[in-house]
Amino acid sequence: MNDRYLYAGLIRLHVLHHAVKEPVYGLAMIEELGRHGYKLSAGTLYPILHGLEDRGYLASTEERAGSTVRRVYRATTAGATALTAAKLKVRELFGELFEDGLETEFQAKGAPGDR
Ligand SMILES: [Zn+2]
Repeated sequence: MNDRYLYAGLIRLHVLHHAVKEPVYGLAMIEELGRHGYKLSAGTLYPILHGLEDRGYLASTEERAGSTVRRVYRATTAGATALTAAKLKVRELFGELFEDGLETEFQAKGAPGDR
């Protein structure tokens, strides 16, 4: 992914989104982002988790799962509040992207509602 610079904020918001829903840990987030088509290495993801924690959006604890000890991250109240605000901003700013960008594709293939 060569356009990582463009997606960095989106990935941070997506990690925060999952941490609001459930406790997350590094490997599970790498797999989750992979499911969305983002191949992140541990060397990229861990600084994202640490950065979110340093800024107070996440809080972590060490938890034992069988024989392994994992650092598990949960969204803080500030993180959940920030995500709610960010979702409104994303909807506002990105709604316009879809008006311009995907509409031409939809027109070529037929809009989902037209099928
Ligand atoms: Zn996801």
